[in-house]
Amino acid sequence: MNDDVWKTRYIELERERDDQAERTQAIEALLKRLIGRLCLAARGLGADLDRALERTQQAMRGALGTSQLEELLSELSDAVARTEAPVVKQAQSAVAESFDAELRSALSALLGGLELDVSLRERASELRGQLESARELPQAVKFCAQLSDLIAAQRERAKLEQADLQRVLLQVDTRLHEFVSYLRGEEAEREAASASRQQLDEQMLGEVRGLNETVRSADDLGTLRSQLAERLEAMDAYLKQFRLRETERAEGFRERAERMRSRVEQLESETRQLQASLAREQINATTDPLTGVPNRLAYEQRVALEFKRWKRFGRPLCLVAWDIDHFKAVNDGHGHQAGDAVIRSVAKLLARQIRETDFVARYGGEEFVMLLVDTAPEAAMAVLEKVRRSVEQMVVKAEGRAIKVTTSAGLAEFRGEEGPDAVFARADRALYRAKQNGRNRCERA
Ligand code: GH3
Ligand code: MG
Ligand code: MG
Repeated sequence: MNDDVWKTRYIELERERDDQAERTQAIEALLKRLIGRLCLAARGLGADLDRALERTQQAMRGALGTSQLEELLSELSDAVARTEAPVVKQAQSAVAESFDAELRSALSALLGGLELDVSLRERASELRGQLESARELPQAVKFCAQLSDLIAAQRERAKLEQADLQRVLLQVDTRLHEFVSYLRGEEAEREAASASRQQLDEQMLGEVRGLNETVRSADDLGTLRSQLAERLEAMDAYLKQFRLRETERAEGFRERAERMRSRVEQLESETRQLQASLAREQINATTDPLTGVPNRLAYEQRVALEFKRWKRFGRPLCLVAWDIDHFKAVNDGHGHQAGDAVIRSVAKLLARQIRETDFVARYGGEEFVMLLVDTAPEAAMAVLEKVRRSVEQMVVKAEGRAIKVTTSAGLAEFRGEEGPDAVFARADRALYRAKQNGRNRCERA
């Protein structure tokens, strides 16, 4: 059991949480800006609506609570309803256009970028559904409010987790202090025991000297006998006192040892719990919840490692960017649940088709990134072709339908002085070319 390991891990976790909090704040700021833009877009449709929009914008400048957002939302909806119908229709179709094109994909990226607790993922998936069917301003505003709630809930969840971890660490810390004071107590006990033995030694020695003296100086047998008897009685008493002290000490020691034994057991069980929860957290932090394959964070860690190996051993290393073709059409035609099922199936297939030493992660949305280690680009292209054909032949059964998709890929090998980001950028450009050249194909950078 090493105290420092927990502390280091705890500090790491705190740092991760801080990063997450920072991301959440950035997303919140972005959301507020989006709402601001929506407010601007809807200006000039009616006095009531303008006032409601003004209040919304003002509210966005401060900290927002759910109830405040709900109030604003209903005020906005009322104002929209009161506005002249033809003007609203005309404006709504204008808003609907810009909402479709840019805001919808920005909001979708926002939602996709959230790292959510398992318990919130269903809510996120429902929200994605709402976003995909949202066409008008009030729906967009409602979505933003719900997204904001979701972010707040995630933040709450993270705080709870942190408090939980802190509690366990505090327990471990308390136990460690108990051990230290137990050990100190035992040391003091040992000193007391040695002092007690020394006391007995001195007492006995004194009596023996006294005995000698008595024998030497006694004039008659009667005095000798009575003095001898006194000395022997005193020695007996000293021995009895000593034995009593030792018995009490042994009893105290037994009790303390028993208490410590149960404390050690508790500590062991708490440590096991802590280890399990840290391991769970580590897995959660690096696994994509939708597909079960590694996520982008896992990719960042792995690519850094493979890059180091590549520099050291010089074996060929290839990076591949994958993207499902026309995925928006899957969502639009079959619904986002079916879309999710397609993403899951493609992820599983990609993971199945590569070697155990290779790596695949969901990079985001319907994009994946792959690392093919110890593989030259020519051989890697053959792997990609095989994977591409497997996806092409795959039929995903979801929502009572049979869905087929294709994928495109861009491959770049590690070379020269380029770091992982530059190699990724090249793979991404090759992927773009694959899309330009008709999709369902693989291109090499
Ligand atoms: P292209 O062939 O050019 O790649 O076309 P595309 O339609 O795939 O293009 P784009 O990358 O713009 O669309 C990706 C879509 O994927 C947009 C977004 O709504 C959707 N999406 C992102 N993440 C998820 C998700 O987790 N589940 C579902 N169902 N859809 C998602
Ligand atoms: Mg894409
Ligand atoms: Mg795509």
